[in-house]
Amino acid sequence: MSGAAALIVHGGAGSVAEDTVRARLSGCRQAVEAGWAVLMHGGSAVAAVESAVVILEDNPLFNAGIGSPLNSDGQVELDASIMDGAQGYAGAVAAVKRIKNPIRLALRIMQDKRHILLVAEGAERFAISHGISPCDPRDLIHPSARRRKPRYGTVGCVAVDQSGRIAAATSTGGTAGKHPGRVGDSALIGCGTYATHEIGVSCTGMGEAIIHVVLAKTVVDLMQPGVPIQVTAKHAIGLLAEKTGDEGGVIVANNCGDVGYARNATHMPVCWVRDGGDMVTDI
Ligand code: ASP
Repeated sequence: MSGAAALIVHGGAGSVAEDTVRARLSGCRQAVEAGWAVLMHGGSAVAAVESAVVILEDNPLFNAGIGSPLNSDGQVELDASIMDGAQGYAGAVAAVKRIKNPIRLALRIMQDKRHILLVAEGAERFAISHGISPCDPRDLIHPSARRRKPRYGTVGCVAVDQSGRIAAATSTGGTAGKHPGRVGDSALIGCGTYATHEIGVSCTGMGEAIIHVVLAKTVVDLMQPGVPIQVTAKHAIGLLAEKTGDEGGVIVANNCGDVGYARNATHMPVCWVRDGGDMVTDI
């Protein structure tokens, strides 16, 4: 399949304060623009999701990279994962404190192929030996971090490139006040992120609930020929609600260039673009 490029991002499931809606949607648009530019220059789905997520990690409005909430020790600890559906490779990091763009590190781990998930100091040592300079942990603390709500603003992206290859990526600072070392779904392949030849998924919401239902892989397993992926996304969120009583959201894209999303949280900023279409946002 070729020619059906598409890209969708989310900016976290939760409830968005009225006065930040515009800025969040504009942040999502900037991320889509960055990822779409990669795709339109013939770049891969993997490169596109990386570019889009880096933009969101660098935007302090989102709970990823700079601007993430603090754990109970007053530190930022970041989780991220990426998966290349065409190759079946994945990379992930958890509980890193000195990495400005954890999605870049997750990508390096994926490209290196020896590991899938590296955590904490070991992940940071891998970063240094693979050309990613560590930052001062204090550089990740944005003044707004102390005012953060318990959880809101995780970011994710699913892209389909012009060759029909799919990639998915997710990045988060996790939950505010979390126990040091707590790892949520965003670092776990199959939970927060999953991609195959046919579909890519990025999730957001209460990590423990998402892990419980292995949400990203569940979306893939629920897919049926002839059923629109939007319907499948809704079905999966229904299962999350039914089995855990918790809230979340998913974004999906398939190798036909269809995109979909669903949430049972009050809001989830999303932005997407497909071949031949305009950029669309929703909250
Ligand atoms: N899933 C993330 C976590 O639990 C948080 C979120 O998506 O808002 O770490």
